[in-house]
Amino acid sequence: MTAPASAAEQAAITELVAANHILYARGVVDGFGHVSQRHPDHPDRFLLSRSMAPSLVAAGDILSFGLDGSECGGDGRPAYLERFIHGEIYAARPDVMSVVHSHSPAVVPFSVVRGTGLRPIFHMCGFLGCATPVFEIRGCVGDASDLLIRDRALGAALARCLGDHAAVLMRGHGSTVVGSTLRQAVFRAVYTEVNAKLQAVALGLGEVTYLTDAEAAAAAATNDSQIDRCWALWRHEAKGAA
Ligand code: MN
Repeated sequence: MTAPASAAEQAAITELVAANHILYARGVVDGFGHVSQRHPDHPDRFLLSRSMAPSLVAAGDILSFGLDGSECGGDGRPAYLERFIHGEIYAARPDVMSVVHSHSPAVVPFSVVRGTGLRPIFHMCGFLGCATPVFEIRGCVGDASDLLIRDRALGAALARCLGDHAAVLMRGHGSTVVGSTLRQAVFRAVYTEVNAKLQAVALGLGEVTYLTDAEAAAAAATNDSQIDRCWALWRHEAKGAA
């Protein structure tokens, strides 16, 4: 029997539904990809939609999961295969309150080309820091997997590769981005895709000057105070598309 949702849980669910719609409207997710939020009342749980296209998610589709990936309320509807990404990152990173996993297309080339890491090319992406790690799943399961994070061991390996970074690329698959709030994670997921597009263009033009570590840190701190402005716009846009 599931306990009635608290006011904090209801508010978190409302934000999480909006995040699902925003990430679709901004081209980060399509039929695949998912966004979660650590449960506001239970830090050892997280809120995540049942397995479905993010743009179609409504409040009744949001379920609560333990960090081991088990659903808490006895809901029989299918869960995302890759929910272990979320649980293992929340377990490894107490500072993380939200996780976005996507296959946003501009990022994928940076997961497969050696020697060309995803780095902050402009001030909106200082959160990327000096270098974004790339998770190579072959190191865990060999060279014949479907590349999905299907269990806790793979989720934990991905979390180790993420380390203290804001984003981790997944070779031949996509990326996972984290934040200290849901809105920050969404902001970072949107701008990780933007950075990848711009970096690919710049690399085609010539030698690229990236942000220094100090510029990246300063820019990230400024942007963190501006996130609600983007959120208001993106939420308005997403509602218009619904
Ligand atoms: Mn995936």
